[in-house]
Amino acid sequence: MIKLSGIHKSFGRQEVLKGIDLTVNKGEVVAILGPSGSGKTTLLRCINYLEKPADGRIQIGDFTLDARHAGKKDVYALRQRSAMVFQQYNLFSHKTALENVIEGLIVVKKLGKEEARKRGVELLEKVGLGGKLDAYPSQLSGGQQQRVGIARALALEPEVILFDEPTSALDPELVGEVLAVIRRIAKEGITMIIVTHEMGFAQDVANHVVFMDGGVIVEEGPPAELFGNPKEERTKQFLKRYT
Ligand code: ADP
Repeated sequence: MIKLSGIHKSFGRQEVLKGIDLTVNKGEVVAILGPSGSGKTTLLRCINYLEKPADGRIQIGDFTLDARHAGKKDVYALRQRSAMVFQQYNLFSHKTALENVIEGLIVVKKLGKEEARKRGVELLEKVGLGGKLDAYPSQLSGGQQQRVGIARALALEPEVILFDEPTSALDPELVGEVLAVIRRIAKEGITMIIVTHEMGFAQDVANHVVFMDGGVIVEEGPPAELFGNPKEERTKQFLKRYT
């Protein structure tokens, strides 16, 4: 289970997260929606400590970090339990697809070279890239690069995978293949938090949908409820624009 309590974050004078509380059960897929600038990405980055919250607690499984007292070891423990899939893929450009996936298996999971290679091949096959093991990112399409990013996240066997608008940098014709991979791994029961503008996808794949605006969670609930019968005016206005 993942539990966020009272997450606050400011950039200079701008308070971007105004005390976020969110509980995600094991195996759940949570979609975070909201207008641009509402704090969605910042919240996701706080969960992985790519942004340091000013205040709040982050619990992932058996580990809880208190932002006021967190040291290096706590951040390491948090990152052992979560993996991020970035908008811009963030692959190592001088490493092949396989090397990008293997890196974490060797450095973080401490696997031997042979075992890491075997596992890396399995993971790339899983995302449909068994034929691209030795390709460099520049030789792959955006959709393929993002699928390497997903394989790399899976390699860490995290308790939660955090997706930051995983398809927003892609040409429209490449969005489907990436969503299909995410959909497939969601079915395996991996806990996921996904910031997305893909409303149809959120509606299909998520068990729980969160609507953020102005640094707060305005409304949350099962997709049928949030999309079908939103209660808050801000949610209604947002959905009108997007659906
Ligand atoms: P969203 O993901 O909902 O579009 P973000 O979390 O990216 O929103 O951003 C929320 C607000 O925080 C925006 O006003 C943005 O400009 C600001 N912001 C985000 N990251 C930074 C940063 N590193 N430095 C300063 N301001 C930032």
